Amino acid sequence: MKTKRILVISSISLLVTVGIFLIVYFRRVPVVYQEEEAFLMGTRLRVVLASKRFSSKSLADNVISEFRRIDAKFDPYREDSAIYKLNHSSGWVKVDKETYNLVETAVRYCQTTGGAFDPTLGKLITLWGFDKFDEKKSFKVPSESDIKQALKNSGCDKVEFDDRDMMIKTNGVWIDLGGIAKGYALERAYALVKGLDPDATGFIDIGGEIRIIGPKYGRAPWVIGVRDPRGSDVIDYLYLKKGAVSTSGDYERYFIVNGKRYCHILDPKTGYPAGGARSVTVIADDGVTADVYSTAGFVMAKDWRYVLVHFPELGMQVMMVLSDGKMVKSDGFEYYENPR
Ligand code: ADP
Ligand code: MG
Repeated sequence: MKTKRILVISSISLLVTVGIFLIVYFRRVPVVYQEEEAFLMGTRLRVVLASKRFSSKSLADNVISEFRRIDAKFDPYREDSAIYKLNHSSGWVKVDKETYNLVETAVRYCQTTGGAFDPTLGKLITLWGFDKFDEKKSFKVPSESDIKQALKNSGCDKVEFDDRDMMIKTNGVWIDLGGIAKGYALERAYALVKGLDPDATGFIDIGGEIRIIGPKYGRAPWVIGVRDPRGSDVIDYLYLKKGAVSTSGDYERYFIVNGKRYCHILDPKTGYPAGGARSVTVIADDGVTADVYSTAGFVMAKDWRYVLVHFPELGMQVMMVLSDGKMVKSDGFEYYENPR
């Protein structure tokens, strides 16, 4: 009886010792970040991930595949995409659930941003030549009458939805999800990674729009540089442990005619490139919100005082470099400018 008890006690202490050893051992194993890169959506995708449960490389490869899938499906100018099909059909078009939800979400943001974010500008974007990547030659200032005509064929109030049969009727507008697709892909990728390993950490960067997967080594913030819209320097550093940050600016896709700069973000009211800011940086809880509102904030920049108050009410922080170079920030922005 006594020997049995001694045996039980020593087995338990052995188990505890092994347990403690394993915990200490695995905590000591350094976290190694895997970095993968790809070029898509007209820009560079950078995936930096560490997982103890899965191969970090295969997680990163999954993320890249998901981005490729979304790019191919929602690029309105690829003839085999879901959006191309929608834009080039008349009447009610039956779409799959994902397309329905994303177009509907984009149109909802059009309403909540007072039309500043407008996913129905495809015809105007094509007219200005911003539908093509890497082809600066295609950029041109269109004639006023062409702009008027294309303006008539845009506007999110024209899009109709039938949720019962999952159909969309565009009534002549062309959907362009360029201002939300990156944010959507970031959120899909985030869910994919966290679904496989809730403890994975790292970040995903698509052309300067960043989604934090988890803090560095599980505790430290990632340091994000915000680019000077008129140079190559960094004008601000942000420290993020979670959430997302997106910058919309006039310095990456633009052309200059007679000293005037024309950029790829259009003001849906005028049909001309928006002019109040050089760049707008939005910090939000998720990638879709950051993406949508950095584009919307860029369009609304002439009302920057309103943006600085209104965006934080919706749970965001914002920094703007105005067209005269002045930098303005919402009150809570400073929180992210300090390492914690
Ligand atoms: P980037 O693509 O450089 O990250 P944005 O997220 O601001 O920049 O998205 C700009 C893209 O969104 C444009 O290339 C175009 O496809 C589309 N777009 C242009 N103007 C608007 C607008 N007012 N609202 C929504 N999307 C827009
Ligand atoms: Mg955007």
